[in-house]
Amino acid sequence: MNEITYLTEQVRLAVPDLSEEQAAQLYTYYQRLVEKNQVMNLTAITEFTEVVRKHFIDSLMLFQAVDREILQTPLNVLDLGTGAGFPGIPLKIAYPALNVVLVDSLNKRVKFLQEVIDELGLKGITAIHGRAEDVGRDPMYREKMDLVVSRAVANLATLSEYCLPLVKLGGAFIPYKSGAVNEEAADAKKAIYLCAGKLEEIIPYELPGETGAEVMGRSLIVIRKTGPISKKYPRNPGKPAKEPLR
Ligand code: SAH
Repeated sequence: MNEITYLTEQVRLAVPDLSEEQAAQLYTYYQRLVEKNQVMNLTAITEFTEVVRKHFIDSLMLFQAVDREILQTPLNVLDLGTGAGFPGIPLKIAYPALNVVLVDSLNKRVKFLQEVIDELGLKGITAIHGRAEDVGRDPMYREKMDLVVSRAVANLATLSEYCLPLVKLGGAFIPYKSGAVNEEAADAKKAIYLCAGKLEEIIPYELPGETGAEVMGRSLIVIRKTGPISKKYPRNPGKPAKEPLR
C-alpha cells in the first residue's frame, strides 16, 4: 500500500470525512517534518506509520471530548507548547473552520511552523513565538479562547497556570495526557481552582489498533473556565514550572 493510501485510511478512523486534499496536506506536513528534523530537533518519532498514528491521529482524537460538529465551527483555539505543531496543525487541516493560534517558546520551531503554514496555504492560523507566562498576560490572547489544547508540555498543575488564563468564561482547557492521570489531576486540584477552572471530565482513549504494551493510558481532561481569573496568574516566567500552585 502506498503511503498516501495508508495515511488516508488511518486518519479516516478519527476523521471519517477527511478529503483527499486534506490527506495530501497531512502528507506534505509529514515530509517537511522529517526533512527539517534532520537539521533541528522537532520530534523523536520519524517512522511514517508512527508519525501518522502517534502524532496525526493522536492529535485528532480531540473529537472524543469535543463533538465533530463543534470542531467544524470557527472556534478560537490555542495550542500551547505546540513544538512541531501537535495537536494544532492536524486539527487545523482536519477542521479548517477553526481559528488556530500556535504558541511555542522556541523560535526555530515557530519558524518551521510558519513555513508549513505558508506551503500548505492555511488561513486562519498563526504561529507565535512566546512563553505561556507572557502570552497569558497579553490582552490579545488573555481570556479570548474558546478552547486551549496542549500535549506533552508540563505537569497539569503547571499547565493549568499556563493555559487557563487564556480561556474565556465558559470555554475549556483540554490537555492531552498519558500515564497516571488521576494522580496528576489530584495534584493539580489547587492550581485548577486558583486559575478559575473546574475539572469536568477525564476521558480515556486509545489510538485505533493500539494494543498491549503500546497502550499508554492516554486521556483528554476537560477543564471548564468557570469565572474570571485573578490578575496574579500566570506568575512571572519560570515560576509556574519551578513552584507549581499547590
Ligand atoms: N505539543 C508538542 C510538543 C511537545 S514538546 C507535541 O506534543 O509533540 C514541549 C514544547 O513546549 C516545546 O516545543 C517547548 O519549547 C514548549 N514549551 C515549554 N514550556 C513553554 C512555555 N512556558 N511557553 C511556551 N512554550 C513552552
